[in-house]
Amino acid sequence: MGEGESANRYGARYGKRIRGRVSEIEGDQKKRHKCPNCNSDSLKREAKGIWKCTKCGKKTAGGAWKPKTKGEGMVKKALKKSGEKE
Ligand SMILES: [Zn+2]
Repeated sequence: MGEGESANRYGARYGKRIRGRVSEIEGDQKKRHKCPNCNSDSLKREAKGIWKCTKCGKKTAGGAWKPKTKGEGMVKKALKKSGEKE
């Protein structure tokens, strides 16, 4: 759905203070991640919490900004601090 990927909307919602942190997360979500199904690095974020493999087409639920990783808790905490709601 209309969830744009521009950093602009964050600027409007959160202001400049946390811009750096958001950019980090944005960069992260644009990276490719390993698909748990076919093991190729083709997993891309399709929507918040939904990941799709461009190779095998499998959709998987994961973290809001990256698939399940040990860093996920940290990201969630960071988002909570900045007023983001799940
Ligand atoms: Zn796959």
